[in-house]
Amino acid sequence: MKKRVFSGVRPTGRLHIGNYLGAIKNYVALQGEFDCVYCVVDLHALTTLEDTALLQSNIREGMLDMLAAGLDPQKAVIFVQSHVPEINELFTLLGMVTPLGWLMRVPTFKEKARMHPQNVNYGLVGYPVMMTADIVLYKADVVPVGEDQLPHLELAREIVRRFNEHFGDTFPEPQARLTTFPMVVGLDGQSKMSKSLNNHIEIAATAEETTKKIMSAVTDPARKLRSDPGHPEVCNVFKLRRHFEPEVIASLDADCRTAKIGCVDCKKSLAAAVNNYFAPLRARRAELAAIPGYVEEVMADGARQARVIACRTMEEVKKKMGLI
Ligand code: SF4
Repeated sequence: MKKRVFSGVRPTGRLHIGNYLGAIKNYVALQGEFDCVYCVVDLHALTTLEDTALLQSNIREGMLDMLAAGLDPQKAVIFVQSHVPEINELFTLLGMVTPLGWLMRVPTFKEKARMHPQNVNYGLVGYPVMMTADIVLYKADVVPVGEDQLPHLELAREIVRRFNEHFGDTFPEPQARLTTFPMVVGLDGQSKMSKSLNNHIEIAATAEETTKKIMSAVTDPARKLRSDPGHPEVCNVFKLRRHFEPEVIASLDADCRTAKIGCVDCKKSLAAAVNNYFAPLRARRAELAAIPGYVEEVMADGARQARVIACRTMEEVKKKMGLI
């Protein structure tokens, strides 16, 4: 039997290059090796989302991007978190074995509480409990995570250990599968690529939009004149070209340092490479978007499959906890 992978994606709408290189590309690759369960975590989004008017369209747009990128409903279970209501039951039950002190110590909770002191809600404190419920409801063995998410997974493992010790062996302790992909920096050259900072490039943007965005990217700040030698190690355009044109990196490094190439030409090459790379994805996305009800069907079918696993888990959990 294949091991099971679980991962959740926040419904932030159309995906950008950072989402793609940092997560989705990896999800597609894992489909061959593991039994994959991928979920759009709409309930998690409610902990910080004040306006939910765009939630449904964000889910649909993100789904279209993921399907066009290669997530395959024939190979993976793909669904929306809240369409499997058992998640709420397990969230409540795991809450009974999770000490409040563990949750209050989570660095991201402290940071969010500091940033939004007017909205320190119960859902925010309980976020790691729901994340644990997401993973163990499907008895996932493996969770792909970046290094920054390791503390969250460790907390999930602690909750699992506590549950298993108290009620008997029920859940596998989820193992981290470290995704080694470095953080994708945005077009400002400073912060992580993010929609909220508007320093991103959507993977499904048009070729013209992509080129326009890339031409506005910050490069080596010390390179003021075309004749100034560049420092590719501090330039984000260079980093992006490493992903999309690895074959030119050695010569680009030398050409940049000797001012043989200018930043305008360098960005034009990157834009062409990005557009070339995503052209098949964009065409596929347009095809899928044109099929009436396709995304809804994928989500409904995924939720049906996910519920079969979830109901089995909940029956076992309730029996072990003495509820039935
Ligand atoms: Fe960056 Fe390219 Fe300009 Fe060098 S030539 S500083 S790598 S954009």
